[in-house]
Amino acid sequence: MSEQSNADCIFCKIIAGEIPAAVIFEDDDVVAFCDAFPAEQGHALVVPKAHHPDVFALPEALVAKVNIAAQRLALAQRKALQPDGLLVTQFNGEAAGQTVFHYHVHCLPRWAGSDRATHGRAQANPDDLKAMAERIAAALD
Ligand code: AMP
Ligand code: ZN
Repeated sequence: MSEQSNADCIFCKIIAGEIPAAVIFEDDDVVAFCDAFPAEQGHALVVPKAHHPDVFALPEALVAKVNIAAQRLALAQRKALQPDGLLVTQFNGEAAGQTVFHYHVHCLPRWAGSDRATHGRAQANPDDLKAMAERIAAALD
């Protein structure tokens, strides 16, 4: 299944402006915003604006665009937050840990001694997410 937008998809709703997100940057094809249930400080996602469920469905041109955007985001997170490491990853299918079936790449800063979870348990305060998005955006090249 691949389509421009899916009425039941939470990320399509963010892209359509129907629900809020702490956006870090966007262009015609991709948007980067803070994960609402961060596994670490600064956890953010890069999402193509068109609805494609997973890596198997993603057109090659978007594979390139999303990953270029993920590198741009990771560089800004590193500059803004100075983590010890930074995980760039994505999940395909429930068995692999995917919970939102609109392709996305996680950019997840890591600090030494963290528990290495890839999903957070608690929803972050929207004002804190907005402040984090602004902090990362200020470090974009
Ligand atoms: P995945 O398991 O790779 O499908 O991850 C989906 C991610 O989306 C999780 O890390 C969630 O915390 C995150 N998420 C779910 N709903 C929202 C939302 N409304 N805004 C931002 N992030 C979200
Ligand atoms: Zn979608």
